[in-house]
Amino acid sequence: MRVLQVASEAAPFAKTGGLADVAGSLPAALERIGCDCTLIMPAYRQVFEAGIPIEKTELVFDVPVGQRHLRAEIFRSTLPGSNVPVYFVGNEACFGRPTLYGGGHDYPDNAERFILFSRAAMELAGRLEKPFDVLHGHDWQAGLIPAYRRLLYQAWPMLAHAVTVQTIHNMAYQGTFWHWDMLLTGIDWKYFNWKQMECHGQLNFLKTGLVFADAITTVSPTYAREITEAPGGCGLEGVVASRAEVLSGIVNGIDTTVWDPQSDPLIPRHYHAADTSSGKDAARIALAARLGHPAPDPRPLVSFVGRLAEQKGVDLLVEMIARVAANGRAHFVILGTGDPGHEEALRRLAATYPGTVDVVIGFDELLAHLIQAASDIVLMPSRFEPCGLSQLYAFRYGAIPVVRATGGLVDTVVDATPESLANGTASGFVFESYNAVALEQALTRALDAHADAATWQRLVTSVMQQDWSWDTSGRNYLELYTQVLARSQAEPTFEPET
Ligand code: ADP
Repeated sequence: MRVLQVASEAAPFAKTGGLADVAGSLPAALERIGCDCTLIMPAYRQVFEAGIPIEKTELVFDVPVGQRHLRAEIFRSTLPGSNVPVYFVGNEACFGRPTLYGGGHDYPDNAERFILFSRAAMELAGRLEKPFDVLHGHDWQAGLIPAYRRLLYQAWPMLAHAVTVQTIHNMAYQGTFWHWDMLLTGIDWKYFNWKQMECHGQLNFLKTGLVFADAITTVSPTYAREITEAPGGCGLEGVVASRAEVLSGIVNGIDTTVWDPQSDPLIPRHYHAADTSSGKDAARIALAARLGHPAPDPRPLVSFVGRLAEQKGVDLLVEMIARVAANGRAHFVILGTGDPGHEEALRRLAATYPGTVDVVIGFDELLAHLIQAASDIVLMPSRFEPCGLSQLYAFRYGAIPVVRATGGLVDTVVDATPESLANGTASGFVFESYNAVALEQALTRALDAHADAATWQRLVTSVMQQDWSWDTSGRNYLELYTQVLARSQAEPTFEPET
């Protein structure tokens, strides 16, 4: 089966969040189980600074974007640790910028940038040597792919028989633009209606993907249910619900070539489930040095690594730490970047509780690995969480997550109760209500458990042995592709309503 993945970011070439982790791992996982996989992403400036050889190809073509033709220069590399070819759509004016999507505010021409990207991806796919069976687009940036396949590229021999899959990594980001940007898409105005590409008067890329795709996936079964209703659907719940028969949830895996304490080059000493202490101690010494402390704090280390966005529950985090920091039971380390208000609140917290609260504002891959390795407890008080990767990394690195019961956190973390601890299924501490007191209570339960060394060690050993690698998720995607292809052969004439 030949599968094309189209994503706006993929690790290790360019990353702002979990999407990059998925797009950088799924193609290799699919290759391992026999898929012929190719990845297309934009040639951002970051791609050329990632330290991986990138070559320029002979492929250069013009892509119609509204009245203009924009040049697409195609670069090529291979996904590290695999034979998956990666093609990069280059256009210096569109992608040679300091950040991927804009700093603080989105770039005003993001519609044009990702129309160029998705159309160029179609043009490129149509020029590669063999036809694709599946075009798999990720998030709003690739949301036009299913519509292009059906409306503009249906006659291209390399694309004519391909089915389309649209994956939602986060419903809160939909790619909405003013209606005149419809002219840039090259798609007929008649599709700018409330059943297809329009939403509240705006052009909506994600909605377009949801309407035109042969199958829709999201990154956990619970999130798949949540997005069929408000508020999870972020206004598109009706569209999602109307396509419920082709919607499924597949939990993300983690890339164990990157995230594994037995081989991670970013931590000072490797360790495994049978013996965590020397590796975790070494990580704590390195982390203390990095944070400017003379020695590691003997108290339990409680961390948060993530985007400082409303979604992640940063307001709860700040409120809860302000309530408990003075009681001296734990040391908090926070790494993140994002909303300036959240950044400022966290900085103030660190200034109020020096030696108990450390805050690093910025994006730092090495520090993220070091924090996971050094941590006892990882906090994820998310308002909503499509899948979440940090809790899966925490398991692997022998840290126990404290999470809110939402989305993928429900599907991956089993609350520690006397029963689940006794039967070995416990993997974290879960709270329901979105408030700081509930978070504090869950953290207190975790700290109480930590105080009982034997219980804690059993918990740590058991979460470290869980398998959240891409093998299972990759097989689930392959099964889905097989079903969608079979369905499209059985009923090849699907036409979205006008
Ligand atoms: P999301 O995709 O919503 O941002 P996930 O939990 O799915 O959340 O994935 C977040 C990924 O981004 C993880 O790999 C996490 O380690 C990483 N990450 C987030 N913020 C930072 C940061 N400031 N520095 C380093 N890595 C970060």
